[in-house]
Amino acid sequence: MITGKNYIGSQLKASGTKTVKTFNPVLNKENPWVFTEATPEEIDEAVVLANQAFVSYKKCSGLEKAKFLTAIADEILALGDDLLVQYCSESGFARGRAEGERGRMIGQLHSFAAMLTEGSWVQATIDTAITDRLPAPKEDLRKMLVPLGPIVVFGSSNFPFAFSTAGGDTASALASGCPVIVKSHSMHIGTGEMVASAIIKAAQKTNMPEGVFSNLIGGGKTLGASLVKHPLVKGVGFTGSISGGRALFDLAAQRPEPIPVFAEMGSVNPVILLPEALKNNSQKWATAYAGSITLGAGQFCTNPGLLIALEGNDLNKFAEQLTEAIEKIEPGCMLHPSIHADFESGIKTMEEQNGVSKVAHFKGDVLPNHGAQTILRVKGEDFLKNELLRHEVFGPFSIIIECNNIAQLIQIVAKLEGQLTGTIIGEENEPEQHTDVIAALQNRVGRLIFNGVPTGVEVCASMIHGGPYPASSDSRFTAVGTHAVYRWVRPLSFQNWPDDLLPAELQNENPLQIVRTVNNELIKETISI
Ligand code: NAP
Repeated sequence: MITGKNYIGSQLKASGTKTVKTFNPVLNKENPWVFTEATPEEIDEAVVLANQAFVSYKKCSGLEKAKFLTAIADEILALGDDLLVQYCSESGFARGRAEGERGRMIGQLHSFAAMLTEGSWVQATIDTAITDRLPAPKEDLRKMLVPLGPIVVFGSSNFPFAFSTAGGDTASALASGCPVIVKSHSMHIGTGEMVASAIIKAAQKTNMPEGVFSNLIGGGKTLGASLVKHPLVKGVGFTGSISGGRALFDLAAQRPEPIPVFAEMGSVNPVILLPEALKNNSQKWATAYAGSITLGAGQFCTNPGLLIALEGNDLNKFAEQLTEAIEKIEPGCMLHPSIHADFESGIKTMEEQNGVSKVAHFKGDVLPNHGAQTILRVKGEDFLKNELLRHEVFGPFSIIIECNNIAQLIQIVAKLEGQLTGTIIGEENEPEQHTDVIAALQNRVGRLIFNGVPTGVEVCASMIHGGPYPASSDSRFTAVGTHAVYRWVRPLSFQNWPDDLLPAELQNENPLQIVRTVNNELIKETISI
């Protein structure tokens, strides 16, 4: 049952007067539930509670936190069909997507639980003392990662499960030992409340401290800004637009005590089609590209928005095949009328630019809030002159850039803003003929893909879902995969600290049996001193 209230720790509260509703884009009408926005007092209460919870939560062992994350996954699954129905009614996504994304959310929680159970993620590093070193003795120094404190998570519109209430940001922050306060995304507040109820139940069942998790309702510029400015908040996770992410980043930097904002923002995910692949395999790649652009109504952060290739007959043939493939696909429902309106106006702006022409546009009847897939094309020289053409149009949209030679292609790649992904499509032995292209692309992206489409982000330790700005606000970290935990920790050194007062991870006995770097060697053995 949806209550429409905020979770301040385990307490449901709604003392405010401002209410909001969500929207069903498939039915093209408002949903019935009424949600009450958090008051300034409730916001403060949630953060103070999170800060109190931090005192004991940061001391929880890896196994205790793993049990908590596993219990969250179990409680989410226990919500059953009702949760899937709620998700669909607030996102416009079909049931299959709901099930798939729930699986991903559950998988993420389990993978962080496994990381905690194994335990070596804290990067324990030990340099034992050398008391007889000359001219001065060497101290005993031991280092590991420790949590930052309360983290604010901004749920994303396009992943109501996997990147919202119990998504990657929340799971990684809870794994690190940080309490979490979620600013529920305004497009799926009911889904957020149901998932929050599962997290609260799991916290109670596994004896986690009150306030380890809160879920608040309200606008970005009101609730969101208050949370980022709150002096007890120590970090922020965000997925969304460049304007939103940048506003929060600037707000955090202006605080008396600046805090990190890990914002995953816009990306056009360039795909470079090398000449031999274009000549020999254009049909295969046209079909794959059409599928990637339209997947999830194009509402993926890794949606391919730019296709770069050399001009000529091969590219003309590819454009025809892409048109044929893309016009056969039924447009998908977009998340919200505002996202749909931004999509349409984004295409219009692109079309108005100098030298831009239309390649493909879905021609059949399009239902309300559905995104008619569109492909444009432009010459390399016009693209280079116009910064606006490098911007993301969120939805099933892509622009083909026709380059007159490889030198121009490299120039275009070098001018791109930072990207989550960059793809090279080529025949066997073709990439080694284009090492300069690859070097230019590597400079601009967080993930290089060979002969594949960029949509589809595997959740694993080697995934990087981030990249140079504006793909993310800090290219040293990832938002997907277990290494996302490193956004919420800082290294702490202990010098000559008594062994029994050290965290278990750093004690001589190595009671947790984790892998540690001891005197520059990666080992599991105990230390005898
Ligand atoms: P968004 O508008 O950036 O909103 C994301 C979250 O940030 C929401 O909770 C929003 O609050 C808050 N917010 C936005 N602007 C803010 C500001 N100036 N100050 C404080 N908080 C702010 O993103 P969205 O709603 O998810 O989608 C809109 C656009 O984001 C899309 O059209 C697309 O361009 C982009 N997007 C990109 C990706 C990606 O990964 N590249 C993913 C999703 C979306 P409210 O509740 O007030 O809205």
